[in-house]
Amino acid sequence: MAILSKRAQGLKPSPTLAITAKAKAMQAQGIKVIGFGAGEPDFDTPENIKQAAVKAIKEGFTKYTPSGGIVELKDAIIQKFQRDNGLSYKRSQIIVSCGGKHSFYNLAQAIFDRGDEVIVPAPYWVSYPVMVALAEGTPVVVGAKEENGFKLTPEELEKSVTSRTKALILNSPSNPTGGAYTKKELEKIADIALSHNFFVISDEIYEKIVYDGFEFVSIASLSEEIKKQTIIVHGVAKTYSMTGWRIGYTAGPEEIVTAMDNIQSQSTSNPNSIAQKASIEALIGPQDDVDKMLKAFGERRRYIVDRLNRIPGVSCYNPAGAFYVFPNFSSYFTKSYQGKKIGNSTGLADYFLDVAKVAVVPGGEFGADDFERLSFATSMEDIREGIDRIEASLKNLT
Ligand code: PLP
Repeated sequence: MAILSKRAQGLKPSPTLAITAKAKAMQAQGIKVIGFGAGEPDFDTPENIKQAAVKAIKEGFTKYTPSGGIVELKDAIIQKFQRDNGLSYKRSQIIVSCGGKHSFYNLAQAIFDRGDEVIVPAPYWVSYPVMVALAEGTPVVVGAKEENGFKLTPEELEKSVTSRTKALILNSPSNPTGGAYTKKELEKIADIALSHNFFVISDEIYEKIVYDGFEFVSIASLSEEIKKQTIIVHGVAKTYSMTGWRIGYTAGPEEIVTAMDNIQSQSTSNPNSIAQKASIEALIGPQDDVDKMLKAFGERRRYIVDRLNRIPGVSCYNPAGAFYVFPNFSSYFTKSYQGKKIGNSTGLADYFLDVAKVAVVPGGEFGADDFERLSFATSMEDIREGIDRIEASLKNLT
C-alpha cells in the first residue's frame, strides 16, 4: 500500500518559499545572504491597519465568522471594486479566503474537472499549474515572449484554445515578469474568451503596484458579457504589506462563489476574524501608505533594471508593475565554475546562493528557464550590495 496519495506524490514545496527558507537558514548560521527571493514587501503593515486589528481583539471579535467572510468586509470589497474598477458586485458574488493563494485554490476546486484545459501563460506564478493539476484540470502552458513584454498575443492565445478549454489565467501585472496588459490588449483577449466561451481567471493582486503612469484595467470592466465570464482573484497581501495576515478575496458569478463557499465551509471555515477587520481598514481606510511604498518600489525598480542591463550578456525587461525583475541570464549557462557547468537557471541560482550569497529564484520554476527572478521588495542598500555580488561572481565564471 502506498503511503501517500497520488496527489501528494511528487508534489514539491513552493520554490519561492523553499529558497527563502534556505536563505534564512544560512543567515541563522551567521552568513550574510542578500535575499531577492521573497515575494513580499519589506515594509511594515501600516499603523491604521494594525490598530483596526488591535481594536477587533479588544472588542472580542475573536470567534468564528461566516465561512466566506463578514458582511462588512464584503461591503468594503464591493466598495473597492466600484471605486477602483467601476465594477458592481452583489454580496453573493464576493468571497473572502485565507489569502489570494487560497482564493485561487478554492476556485480551481470549484470549477475544474478531469479533462478541463486551463491555459497558463508562461512565465507563470509557480502555484498556478500545480493548483490546476490538484483540481485534476490540465494546465496548458503557453510561452509568452520576452520581446512582447512576456504577454500572450491574441494569435498565441487563439492557437492554444481547444474545445476543452475551460479557462485562461491572466495575471496582470505579473509575478514573475512585471508585464501588464493594456486595455487594448485585454479587449482582444476578452473577444477570444467570449467567442470560445471560456472563463478568464484574472489575478489582480498587483493591481496597485504599477509604474510610470501605467493604467491598470480589469478585464471584467470591459463589458457586461466578459464580466459574466471573469472571476477576479485578489488580496490585501501585496498592496498593504499584509502577507502574514492571510486575506484574499474573489469576485465572480454567484454560482461559482457559492461553490467556493461550500468548499471553504467544509475545509478551512472562515479566514481569521481579526485579519478580516484589519482588511476593511486596509481597503477603505486612508491609502497614503500605498503611495509611499509605491514611490520606494519605483526608485528601486529604476536602479535594479539599470544595473542589471549594464552587466555584459544580461538583458532585463523594465517591468510595468509588481515588484520583480526577470532578467535573462542565459548567456552564462554555458559557462563553468571550478569545472562544473552552470547549465540552466537552477544551476545559476545555486551558484549565486553558494558563492555570492545571493538568493534568487530560477526562471525554470516559472516555466522560463533563460531567466532568474529577483524581487526588489527589499532595501536599496541590499539591492546595491546584491547586484554588486552578482556582477562580481559572474566574472569568476569561465
Ligand atoms: N497571485 C500572485 C500572482 C502572487 O504572486 C501571489 C503571492 O505571491 C498570490 C496570488 C497570493 O498571495 P497571498 O496568498 O499571499 O494573498
